[in-house]
Amino acid sequence: MSGVERREFLKASAALAGAAAAGGFSCIELASAAPIEVPTIDKLTVRVLMDQQHDQFLRGSTVNGVVHEGPGPARSADARNVLHNEWGLSLLLESQREQEQRTTLLDFGYTSPALINNIGLLKVDPGKIQALIVSHGHIDHYGGLIGFLNKYRDVLPADLTLYAGGEDNFCHRVSRTATPGQFGEGGTLDRKEIAAQKVKTVLCESPTVIQGHAFTTGKIKRTSVERVLPNTFVDYSSRENASCDYGHYTAAELQGKFVPDEHVHEHATCFNIRGKGLVVISSCGHVGIVNSVQQAQEVSGVRKVHAILGGLSSRAGARRLPQTNRCRGEEAGTRRRHPDALQRAELFAGGAGSNASERDPNLHRQPTDLQRVSP
Ligand SMILES: [Zn+2]
Ligand SMILES: [Zn+2]
Repeated sequence: MSGVERREFLKASAALAGAAAAGGFSCIELASAAPIEVPTIDKLTVRVLMDQQHDQFLRGSTVNGVVHEGPGPARSADARNVLHNEWGLSLLLESQREQEQRTTLLDFGYTSPALINNIGLLKVDPGKIQALIVSHGHIDHYGGLIGFLNKYRDVLPADLTLYAGGEDNFCHRVSRTATPGQFGEGGTLDRKEIAAQKVKTVLCESPTVIQGHAFTTGKIKRTSVERVLPNTFVDYSSRENASCDYGHYTAAELQGKFVPDEHVHEHATCFNIRGKGLVVISSCGHVGIVNSVQQAQEVSGVRKVHAILGGLSSRAGARRLPQTNRCRGEEAGTRRRHPDALQRAELFAGGAGSNASERDPNLHRQPTDLQRVSP
């Protein structure tokens, strides 16, 4: 991007933020510590559209009125077609309050062909999706977005909005390789491509209510012992390559180098379910599941946690949740850690193609853990 293009791009970003503010809905305006008005819903169904793996033969179960559905046969007219799995996550969130329903797509997997395949096979109606959320700036969560929009933009709302955690989601990232000092391409979430699809981007640095049903945590404070694992780096080597606004970063960070990724703008997506409490969806959870839950509690004013869902990709975080810790390789290489983290989404929600309602038994066993680690 040339300097001129970048200035135009930043002006366009500012115009979008202004448009959001004019509509009475700007995440930036919500940046104060004042609690938001968190909506209460009656029911949440989480459908896993993409995950690292799934168990095709997972049987549904009902425990104490709790319903969990496995992926089922999910066959198309073409028997050779099957659910795809790949590194990444995509969750369809269907919420209900009385007769009012909302459908939100959280994250988009790594590649769009796999996501689109599963959307078709699971008979998801993309025309029902009303809002998009991206959890953080990792390609296994945003990689399928543009292809998804290429395929379905016509059936999605004209005023479709992508709720991102902040500028940091759009930074160019690189990843470590086996050779010290050498880095691999980590990808960039390109706002120009999103804007070309006539999708408005809202930066949710502060807690944001989405579609009157969900809320995001905004920027998550780091108050627990959890630490971000050093799995990717943000490229500050060139302003031209950065893709994101440097304004959030310190002078020391802008020394023209690759900086360990702190996921400044990772945010969690949450729901408050009537009579049950919070459901906190961490997606990757780089900033820590305890931090994420505490942030959700703080911004909502709701202490009771009904469920967590998603990754636990932080140092120490998984150790604080012994019953859910399947990650024995926490201190091992990045490639082990991240997939393991995503398996937790499968642990909680059943894997690609499965449905987990708010009464899901796997979800149900989380509150005990969380209440133990929360002050
Ligand atoms: Zn990630
Ligand atoms: Zn991830």
